[in-house]
Order: sequence, then structure tokens, then C-alpha cells
Amino acid sequence: MAKREYPLERTRNIGIMAHIDAGKTTTTERILYYTGKIHKIGETHDGASQMDFMEQEKERGITIQSAATTAVWHGFFDQFEKTPYRVNIIDTPGHVDFTIEVERALRVLDGAVAVLDGAAGVEPQTETVWRQATTYDVPRIVFVNKMDKMGADFQMSVDSMHERLQVNAEAIQWPIGAEDDFEAVIDLITQEAYYPVDELGEKWEPRDIPADLKDLAEEKRNTLIEAVADVDDDLMEKYLEGEDISVEELKAAIRRATLALQFYPILAGSAYKDKGVQMMLDAVVDYLPGPLDVKPYIAKDPKTDEEVDLIADDSKPFAALAFKIMTDPFVGRLTFMRVYTGTLQSGSYVQNTSSDTRERVGRLLQMHATSRTEIEEVFSGDIAAAIGLKNTTTGDSLTAVDHQLILESMEFPEPVIELAIEPKTKADQDKLSNAIQKLAEEDPSFRATTNPETGQTLIAGMGELQLDIMVDRMRREFNVEATVGAPQVAYREAFTKTVQARGYFKRQSGGKGQYGDVWIEFSPNEEGAGFEFEDAIVGGVVPREYIPSVE
Ligand code: GDP
Repeated sequence: MAKREYPLERTRNIGIMAHIDAGKTTTTERILYYTGKIHKIGETHDGASQMDFMEQEKERGITIQSAATTAVWHGFFDQFEKTPYRVNIIDTPGHVDFTIEVERALRVLDGAVAVLDGAAGVEPQTETVWRQATTYDVPRIVFVNKMDKMGADFQMSVDSMHERLQVNAEAIQWPIGAEDDFEAVIDLITQEAYYPVDELGEKWEPRDIPADLKDLAEEKRNTLIEAVADVDDDLMEKYLEGEDISVEELKAAIRRATLALQFYPILAGSAYKDKGVQMMLDAVVDYLPGPLDVKPYIAKDPKTDEEVDLIADDSKPFAALAFKIMTDPFVGRLTFMRVYTGTLQSGSYVQNTSSDTRERVGRLLQMHATSRTEIEEVFSGDIAAAIGLKNTTTGDSLTAVDHQLILESMEFPEPVIELAIEPKTKADQDKLSNAIQKLAEEDPSFRATTNPETGQTLIAGMGELQLDIMVDRMRREFNVEATVGAPQVAYREAFTKTVQARGYFKRQSGGKGQYGDVWIEFSPNEEGAGFEFEDAIVGGVVPREYIPSVE
């Protein structure tokens, strides 16, 4: 049996969520840099991003897939050097088309960092992801990024939290300067200013708060104390008695209030200019929950229908949720799982209670920013990727073979957009079916159907961009040649009438039609009998210009 490397109290499973372009990718990348896993900082949109797993994500400069990356945090002042924190970053996509992926990630993480654009404050998609996180009771801290950007305004960003999200959120830091003059960060709790002393913002030193900001810093500390005291009786008592509140007391109260979803600490920085990310990581460990700080995950015993609370505990039977299937170019199918309780060893068997199958876990991997490590065992509260699970799809429960449980699964909404996809050849048809099956296993918000009237294969999903990417992946990963267009609708009536009056269909192959290689010719039918529409159209899409007019 392997040894647990990180105690549960020192584990954080977090997500980074944001409106698109607020800087989620850049912030994530800096986190990975400061946690020591990336040795070169890459510009996101130059395609050097470490989290963007797949080729097209890099090309498009957006993050689609929700993978998990394991990082190790030693502390801004190396204060955790001896007992570092394990921070698993569950990547949440930033585009609104992928809100389903965001929900899936929220299901398995314990806390989140909401990244705001300091010049824009709360934006429409910030509201969307914020609401989703509220649904799943996810404690959050807020990182006001881009403080170096033209128009950056920290006070405005704080105000936008109140106005647009109507939450109890206050600054625990204050920026010194903004836009080109954004220089350093004041820690309102300790009333110290921190200035970077090297280019990459790796080393910082504490200094006195500049004289012209002293009053402001004190006032903002009071605002913070009042906001936290409002929801924390211990702090309120001290505050009312007029006692001095120590750094430790304030931090402890902020932690309690944040875990209770009654308060949201706000931080300032610029990921791009390497400012504030390390302090934000300290806030992640200070204020966001570990696996033991969150409500137990509720599972059901399929035999008795009784509810069972899953609390992270290595000595309990194994129970996990498969939250993401990815096809990795090197190792094939990866099943990302969050282990709620118990442990799982590579080579052992698990019960998939959702599909009622028994599966063997081949290998277990932990993904880091630039490498992956094979692990012998994954412990409760942790995240790992399994190789070898062939019948497991997103949202499935995986449990010990002799302790079967069904975990509360994820819900996937109905798709909102549909496109017709037409393979070029018969061979492409087979490849298309295979591709659709694989992609739907990875992303249950992506679905495919055949329209019985037109015979068209229709793919459906949460937005245009998602379908675009799916079609792109079909080409790249599955070599499917196909054309895509708007689905055809309701020509049946016109056809049937015409056919029965004066024609018959002849199916031809040969690459002419607008949508594919099957099209239809009309010619007089001596017998005066026609074919039913469905007979004639099987396997083909009828271009609009071939629809005969009704006499
Ligand atoms: P995402 O869509 O939220 O993942 O945002 P990205 O991290 O891809 O960033 C979007 C754009 O904003 C990119 O051009 C980044 O270089 C830029 N950006 C990110 N962080 C900062 C920052 O702190 N300051 C400035 N000025 N630009 C930033």
C-alpha cells in the first residue's frame, strides 16, 4: 500500500472561473509556474499554455476541456516548505457555450477562484458562473485581475460585486496604483505593503504602506472587519467590545465566513504582470475548504435505497465520481475521477454502479502542468485519472465492488442547437458513428440523432462553438470527412403529394448534391405510382433545388 503524501487538511480542490478573457488561462498558468511545475512562462495566446490540453484549444485560445492538474504550494514566504499544500486545479471553461462543463467541474471541486477583469468588474458570464457555483455551495475568493490594464479600477470592481451579485464581499487587499502605475499590493489584514523585487515577481518584500494610502488602508480594514463581523458572532463580539483584532483572529473569522458562503474575500493583482498570484495562492489555502470542510457528498445504497454520507476517509470503502473522460494522444482514454472516500489502487477492480459493470483500473495517473506521474494509489479527497475504464462515462459512480453505492449524478440539460452532418462517403459514415459515440461519452451535453423524415444525422449541443469544436475534432481525431449545415425540415408533404401524382425517385450516387453524394432525380412514372418519401430518401439529403413543385 502506498503512503498518503498530503494530509487531507492540506489538500485543496479548486476551480478558476471567469468571464471569457478576464484572464483565467493566464492566472492558471502563473499558478502552475509559481507552484514550480512550469519553468517557462508562456503567453497564452501564442499557444504555449499548459492547461490547454488539445491542439485546437491552443489555436482558438480558449479552454474547453475540463482537465485536472495537480500542483504543490509551498507558500508565498515558503512558510509551508516542510508541509506543502496539494492544490488540484480543475479547469473550468470560460466560454458560455460550455457552462455544462463548468457545472460538471463545480460538482467535484471544493472551492473556486473567481477571476474578474479589473477594468470591467463583474461581467455577464461572471454572473452565470457565480450562480452555478452558488447552486453547488462552492465557497469562493475573488481575484481582480488586470490591475495593470488601462481603465483598471479596483473600487469599481468591488462595487460591482455588491451591485451585480449582491453578495457580502470585501477587499482583503488593496492595490497600490493602477494601470501602468500598478506597483504593489497592500495586505489589509496585516497592514503591510508588498513590493516585487525581481522581474518575474517571484520575490517580494514587505514595506510600510505609503503615507498617502495609510488612512485608506485602515479604513478598508475596518470595512472588512465589519463585513465579516456581520456574519460571524465571535468577531462581532470582539468588534463591539472595541478590542484589537489580531491578524490570526481576523483570518480565522474570514475563513469561517467564507466556508459558510457568507463572505467572499477580494484580492487584487495582474497575472500578466506577475503580481498578486502568489498571495492569491496563500488565500486559497487560508480561506478555501479542504475535502473535510465541505458538506458530505450524498450517495445511495442501491439495495436499501438508504442515503449514505460520504466523508473523506481512507479507511472507508472506495467511492468516486467520474467527472471527465478525455482521449489523450499518448495513453488513450482517461477517466478523471474525484475520490470522495476510501482509496483506489492501480490494477484493482471497481464497480461502475451507474452502468452496473465491473471494470479493472489499469493505471492511475496524476497530471501535472508539464508532466504526468503514475501513482500506485489514489486517496480520498484527491483527483486522479484512470486508464483502462472502457465502459465508464461522465457522471458515473465508481465504488468498491463489495460496497456498491450510487453517487448523486450530474444532470445534463437539453441541447439548445442542432446541426445536420453529412459524411462524404460510406467509410466516413462508419467513422462518423464511432466519433459521435466517443465524443458523446466525453461530453454528455453533446448528442446525436437521426431524423426519421430526412434521414439526416443531427448533432446537438449547448452552442455553436461547441458543435464547431466537435466537428473539428471529428476531422482531426477520427478522420471523418463530412459537411455540416442547417438541418432540413418538413419537406415531406410537398414530396409525397408530388410523388404520388407524377413521379418516382431514382437514387444516384456520384458526388453531385449540395450536401453529399446522394441526390434524387425525378422522371415521369408510367405506372403513375410513387414511392413513399422515406423509401427514396434513405441515406441522402435532398438539396432544396431538387424538391419538385406541387402541381
Ligand atoms: P481567459 O479567456 O479568461 O482564459 O483569459 P486569458 O488568460 O486567455 O486572457 C485574455 C487576454 O487578456 C490575453 O490577451 C491575456 O494576455 C490578457 N491578460 C490576462 N491577464 C492579464 C493581466 O493581468 N493584465 C493585462 N493587461 N492583460 C491580461
